[in-house]
Amino acid sequence: LTLQHALFLDFDGTLAPLQDNADTVHINEAQHETLLQLSHARDGALALLSGRDVRDLAARTPRGVTRIGNHGLYALAPDTDPDGALDPLPASLERALNAAVGRQDGAYLEVKGPVGTVHYRACPDAGPMLIDAVQTAVATHKNYKTKLGNHVAEAIPIGADKGSALERAMSSPPFAGRIPVMVGDDTTDEDAFLAAQRLGGFGVKVGRGETVARKQLANVSAVWAWLGASL
Ligand SMILES: [Mg+2]
Repeated sequence: LTLQHALFLDFDGTLAPLQDNADTVHINEAQHETLLQLSHARDGALALLSGRDVRDLAARTPRGVTRIGNHGLYALAPDTDPDGALDPLPASLERALNAAVGRQDGAYLEVKGPVGTVHYRACPDAGPMLIDAVQTAVATHKNYKTKLGNHVAEAIPIGADKGSALERAMSSPPFAGRIPVMVGDDTTDEDAFLAAQRLGGFGVKVGRGETVARKQLANVSAVWAWLGASL
């Protein structure tokens, strides 16, 4: 990793270990400081790129870096705050997703602006049933698609993906002209690995599993060790 690299970092499962309850996932003060240093050393060419609602992501991460949430739909420049005006999830879609999680103990729906996320980490056996329910609900909303991740099935607007978000960021300062590196742990990061590699950089897959990324790191601790070594 050099100062020529623009860094794109997923949050859950990449910078912080996954938890049963997504609300308890966090990074510590020293890690906040490391992210700020990595960003400042690159004139701000560091973005957190997460499927979380951008307001939720902003509450867990340093205000001094670029934060891109909702699978790339909303970007916050350094030192700016979310304005709270996100498009809503269509009410009919929210009702259908709520009905699906209501049939299953341990499953819950998280609404993140226009994105509806069904979580089933606490009841993994119900995964196929819940995935099917999300796909059925999405089928009647033509601007939506289903995105599967680690114990989540999401209804997300077409065009919302981390690869497009990375490409948009790379088209302007402070990212333009640098070599993109995307670090992530999940299937939703694969689009961004491909985008980074198309633009001359590389992807870094965290954990096991099939991936298009050219580099792999074992876990969250290995990510911090790797990032820290470049300071
Ligand atoms: Mg992740």
